Amino acid sequence: MRGMKLTKKTISEVISQAVGIEAVDVALYLRGKTDVSELIVADDMKISIQEARSLLYKLYEKNLAKFQRKRDKHKGWHISHWDFLEENILPIQKKLQEEKKEQIKQRIEREQQNMFYICTHACSRVDFEKAIEINFKCPECGGLMNPQDNKRTIEVLNEKLKEIESSE
Ligand SMILES: [Zn+2]
Repeated sequence: MRGMKLTKKTISEVISQAVGIEAVDVALYLRGKTDVSELIVADDMKISIQEARSLLYKLYEKNLAKFQRKRDKHKGWHISHWDFLEENILPIQKKLQEEKKEQIKQRIEREQQNMFYICTHACSRVDFEKAIEINFKCPECGGLMNPQDNKRTIEVLNEKLKEIESSE
């Protein structure tokens, strides 16, 4: 991945995960531009200045945008001028992947170390401790909770982990 030109898809995915899908458009809008006034962002994107600011600060909080406050000569007040920090996309993507891998590893460990019980109607799934607590009765429908073979779940989780590792 490193050294490759970033695709719009990669940028969109990282922004969606790190900031939220609502911030994707403003990031892509800023891409390739420099020092863009928040008033122009709002204008071009046809959103209110408050909305534009809110999205821009969300990017800023995740280190994906920076700004400078400048005094507007005509209006006499301070407005922010923004740059998209595209160079931070890959490091953030790496960090997100590490977090995802860690989550999956913990999930696999939990699956391997516990027995799970599933409702006959498949509306809930709990570990052994919880199953005892609820007397093997489904908290949703009152149906019987049966032990579940979680071999397939562990397989799927391992596949997910491999998929992430092979995309690195
Ligand atoms: Zn049930």
